[in-house]
Amino acid sequence: MGAGLAVALWLLAPPLAPAPDAAFLEAARKIRRVGDEDDAAYAKLEHLCDRIGHRLSGSPTLDAAVTWAAEVLRADGHEAVRTDAVQVPHWVRGPISAQVVAPVRRELAAIALGGSGATPAGGLEAEVVRAGSLEELGKLGGKVRGKIALLDGPMGTHGSSFDRYSEVGPMRGAGPAQAARQGAIAVLVRSLTQRSLRTPHTGGTRFGTQAPIPAAALATEDADLLARLGRRGPVRVRLSLAAHKLPDATSANVIAELRGRERPDEIVLLGAHLDSWDVGQGAHDDGAGTVMVMQALTILRKAHLRPRRTVRVVLFTNEENGLRGAEAYTRDHATELGQHVAAIESDAGGYAPSAFTVEGAAVEALAAYLPLFAGTGLSRIVAGKGGSDISALEPAKVPTFGYLTDETHYFDIHHTQADTLDKVRPDDVRRGATVLAILAYVLAELPGRLGR
Ligand SMILES: [Zn+2]
Repeated sequence: MGAGLAVALWLLAPPLAPAPDAAFLEAARKIRRVGDEDDAAYAKLEHLCDRIGHRLSGSPTLDAAVTWAAEVLRADGHEAVRTDAVQVPHWVRGPISAQVVAPVRRELAAIALGGSGATPAGGLEAEVVRAGSLEELGKLGGKVRGKIALLDGPMGTHGSSFDRYSEVGPMRGAGPAQAARQGAIAVLVRSLTQRSLRTPHTGGTRFGTQAPIPAAALATEDADLLARLGRRGPVRVRLSLAAHKLPDATSANVIAELRGRERPDEIVLLGAHLDSWDVGQGAHDDGAGTVMVMQALTILRKAHLRPRRTVRVVLFTNEENGLRGAEAYTRDHATELGQHVAAIESDAGGYAPSAFTVEGAAVEALAAYLPLFAGTGLSRIVAGKGGSDISALEPAKVPTFGYLTDETHYFDIHHTQADTLDKVRPDDVRRGATVLAILAYVLAELPGRLGR
């Protein structure tokens, strides 16, 4: 084989991580032992949920969460604990009421989408025009002018619920702005969920330079009702929705480190987002991720492990309605982005550990390390994206990992009043913290760098 071909093959398949030696096995055993006896992740989550509560950008509760997280990271003995200021959008929800007024009178279960505009003071009333997809909405053209657009695309139930969520996501994110451009005076979006107990799901919508119009999510049961009524004749809805936008507020990314013993300038980022929607308690999204990454760092410290490279916990602000925390991180740390050897994000709930996602050759390279997770429930490394906060590191070619948990019920409560502490099992977040500590340790300790 010629040297040129050998180099080309080497580039296609970067050097794989060697199988874990006795030192790795021993370190993982220590982490599991410390993690097994550690119920502090759940105790932290209880404080965050019950004492602080939901945490939307610009809210006093998000400020309280930033202060609390930095205090706890200091109290746990971590290094380089700091808060990096970030300017975040400040949208404030007001009361909402929605009713069908013809051909029957019925209350509708609705919740404003983040970024929604307000109705006139007395509310508005109009005929409903239904579209099952953004393509259908586009084909309606000017027929939605002066009407309320109902964006009614059901979330599929086959395969990964995160994939199905990504498919219907644009209905909520981009649909209201599109309907506004076509002349709609308000938008109702079918909640992005596969199962409902008549709970509407909020989430962000983006108007960009378009003037915002009132946009709300409907419980799937009520979207179905409007669709059925609409098949038999005209349907009219009355909507009153208050919401307003204030000037940007100051928030912060919260950071803490376990400095590397050999190459402290090389960084393994371990992240989650501290903000949440302004409903429920943000327990699974992403309180659980927040406390699991905090506790993972504490477990490494309690196990007296100091890997080769630095493990840096980053609690991002404003993931839900702006990603300004992620943008600020890449700006604040522009000169060291090339020094990030990996980034891990935990933003897929705090249910039982299931898998890690990563892209490219790292999937095979790390398969030999799966035995280190024995007893935690984590059994797979699969190809996939890392997470929205750390996606900002992808252009810098940083391998990005996502932590996945049992997703069966995640989207039942996602962005609703029901995302509360009682949905989280203490043993699941305990094992999650252990799993994240092991992965961070492996990536920070590997002799060479992983390719992307
Ligand atoms: Zn989240």
